[in-house]
Amino acid sequence: MSDLISCLKKIVGDEHVLNHDEVALRASHFWDSSPMQAFALVKPSNTNEVSEVLKLCHKRGQAVVTHGGVTGLVDGEKASMSEVVLSLERMRNIESIDTAGRTMTVQAGCILQHAQEAAREHGLLYGLDLGARGSCTIGGNVSTNAGGLSVLRYGMTREQVLGLEAVLADGTVLSSMNTLLKNNAGYDLKQLFIGSEGTLGIVTRVVLRLRPNTPTVHTAILAFDNFRQVSDTLAHMSANLNAQLNAFEIIWNEFYRLSTSDDIQGAARAPLPNNYAVYAIVESQGTNNQADQQTFMQALESAIENELIVDAVVAKSETERAQIWTIRENVDLVLRHQPTFIYDISLPIVSMESYLAGIKQQLQSLWPEVVVYAYGHLADSNLHITIAPTPQNYMNNPGTNNTQTVQLNDEQKQWYKECNKIMFEPLTKIGGTVSAEHGIGLMKKPYLHYSRTEAEIATMRLLKNAFDPTNILNPGKII
Ligand SMILES: Cc1cc2nc3c(=O)[nH]c(=O)nc-3n(C[C@H](O)[C@H](O)[C@H](O)COP(=O)(O)OP(=O)(O)OC[C@H]3O[C@@H](n4cnc5c(N)ncnc54)[C@H](O)[C@@H]3O)c2cc1C
Repeated sequence: MSDLISCLKKIVGDEHVLNHDEVALRASHFWDSSPMQAFALVKPSNTNEVSEVLKLCHKRGQAVVTHGGVTGLVDGEKASMSEVVLSLERMRNIESIDTAGRTMTVQAGCILQHAQEAAREHGLLYGLDLGARGSCTIGGNVSTNAGGLSVLRYGMTREQVLGLEAVLADGTVLSSMNTLLKNNAGYDLKQLFIGSEGTLGIVTRVVLRLRPNTPTVHTAILAFDNFRQVSDTLAHMSANLNAQLNAFEIIWNEFYRLSTSDDIQGAARAPLPNNYAVYAIVESQGTNNQADQQTFMQALESAIENELIVDAVVAKSETERAQIWTIRENVDLVLRHQPTFIYDISLPIVSMESYLAGIKQQLQSLWPEVVVYAYGHLADSNLHITIAPTPQNYMNNPGTNNTQTVQLNDEQKQWYKECNKIMFEPLTKIGGTVSAEHGIGLMKKPYLHYSRTEAEIATMRLLKNAFDPTNILNPGKII
């Protein structure tokens, strides 16, 4: 291993390889300022360099963990002191935009927000959006099959990718840079890399599907007395707004109260009183401001007349819209509890209320003070749930020392196991999944069997062995 760094430097240049001391100067995660760990970090600038790095690592049986924006939420990007991190931070280019074919070709290190802005500059839209947009990369989105705020309308990342290029474990460049909407010529190999969390290959370039732009936006925050009203309102808004319905995000009372609390640094302004059981953010996007506004307002008014919505505030400016969205995106406020256990599950909408009641009851029997923060993408049947077993233990002002820097002690590790059991066990019976959009990584690996059959897991192993027989790509993740 002693000459590995000098061999890597020969491929990418001296200044683009960091040794473990230099790696430790970086934060280990978007939400964790503790030092990053790795034997070395290498920053190739193009596909050829990625291929040369993998040829070298393959020959030596050297494990490689790929990094995009390091915003993943299941420890998929975590490396050990014996692993090499391959970061795509020098591969951020937008290579081309084809306005007639509505495609954009990017290097995999391109930041999501840059792709969104470039599409808009050409009168088009890239249909993926999520809170980490300013840091996460297209390659990371592809590798985790990211979901986010507009899945309801445009689907997950899988639906936004027409083609891609990946480098296999032995350095082979697999170019599948299809730009066509229809292409049934044999196996659709790109699908194997989408959602495989860097275990089957390193994604280096991507052809994205763009959509017509929707410059007019109408947003409202709604309040409800019970969950039934929310799910009925979702059905009502879907029927009335049809394809214009862009987002329908649910926020239960505990999260709304924290996110808008006067006592908490960084909290949002509260547009509605904080004593309703549930809130939702609804957004429509279209092309005709006046007509869209009329449709949006009529849909809201009829829901109020039908006693579905109890209270509502409609954003009258971009600033008010941003304030409303901050309430939903203020997730880091929840993570200031120590400890917190984070979940990203899917389950049928009809089962949500009873599932939440059931897990709350079990959690309270373990921790009487426990707070369950629930919010998420209701229309996608996807809930994000954060459990704070000891809510009094809160860092109101974490400063630059961001959240999640406190490692779990032995007792808390045991709590986490018990919490996982309570959260995951009921999901199999009701047809839910332990991971809706964040993936499996290391964190959810012991629980994959709740959502996948033995035959499915065996087939995943078969694929992993075929693509990466020496197990150098993100080893130990997912399976
Ligand atoms: C504030 C916040 C909000 C978020 N909201 C959402 C949300 O709404 N929906 C959602 O789905 N996720 C969300 N996430 C999670 C995260 O942003 C996504 O998983 C994102 O797609 C990760 O991209 P990244 O570039 O940061 O990847 P990283 O974190 O760097 O990596 C994630 C995984 O992909 C692999 N990987 C990265 N790049 C490549 C590549 N080029 N080739 C092969 N493998 C690669 C890594 O090895 C790792 O396993 C959120 C995270 C934060 C911090």
